[in-house]
Amino acid sequence: MDQEVEYELVIRNGYVLTMDVKGTRYAPGDVAVRAGAIAAVGPNLGAGREELDAHGNAVLPGLVDCHMHETLLRGVCEDLPLMRWLDEICFPIDSAFQPIHQRAAAYMNQLEMVRGGITTFIDIYRYPSEAATVAEQSGLRAIFSPQIIENPSGPGESLASNLQFVHEWRDRVPGRILTWFGPHALYSVSAESLRKIARLAEEYDVGIHTHLAETLDEVELFRRSYNRTPVEYLADLGLLNKRLVAAHGVHLTDRDIQLLAEHDVSVAHNPSSNMKLASGVARIPDLLAAGVRVGLGTDSNLSLYSRVD
Ligand SMILES: [Zn+2]
Repeated sequence: MDQEVEYELVIRNGYVLTMDVKGTRYAPGDVAVRAGAIAAVGPNLGAGREELDAHGNAVLPGLVDCHMHETLLRGVCEDLPLMRWLDEICFPIDSAFQPIHQRAAAYMNQLEMVRGGITTFIDIYRYPSEAATVAEQSGLRAIFSPQIIENPSGPGESLASNLQFVHEWRDRVPGRILTWFGPHALYSVSAESLRKIARLAEEYDVGIHTHLAETLDEVELFRRSYNRTPVEYLADLGLLNKRLVAAHGVHLTDRDIQLLAEHDVSVAHNPSSNMKLASGVARIPDLLAAGVRVGLGTDSNLSLYSRVD
């Protein structure tokens, strides 16, 4: 490296949000990179071999999308409640999906995420090996939870294919590509499989990702069938623990929130999706007050919810 050049890259003159515990900000400020890692943050840093002018932009750590599906299509069908949207639109499309479509979809989704400032995502969708192959190249930090759908059969992965993916990929890109279990929802995966997933997640020391208490229809279904809330049903099956990241949690009772907090479950909040499908408004202040970890998700590809120019 040249004598006068201190860093490989300096991002200069941005509004730097460090997101550290003290809330340190620099306006303007620089971020310097050396040997592929951030070496310095602050005003007026030394010269870089490459310099980017970030004037007028925020510079902050990468965003984490805690719940997304690497789908190919965009903006398909509006104004339907979740269950009709799934049965009439999503599941037929997903059933027609082939691995080659998933490869293309993953390229598009991961490019969009890079462009949108997302550096880590939890994906729950089809053909995870295809999307993981793309993540190997994209450099994004990815968690794949293959979307297991048993009822109806056809649009999703199976417990067997999820397990096969875990075997094939768990040691392939250590620390950057993680392999979880992804039961789609409590109404589309059997109780027996959910119990097995709880055991397997323990055995392989991996996480579980699922949709939970997303709509009033779901809550009503479990009340009628089991006299339980979806959260209580999961507790009965042994799935409430720190391994679980539950997407949505829109319709929760006080007791549900207490159960999630007691069992150290994390929640992925998807406000855009909840508005698109009119699912309801999640009790985020109550979840946070109870000590539940809450992250944000897009619940689909990024472009559905952001302006693409
Ligand atoms: Zn979802």
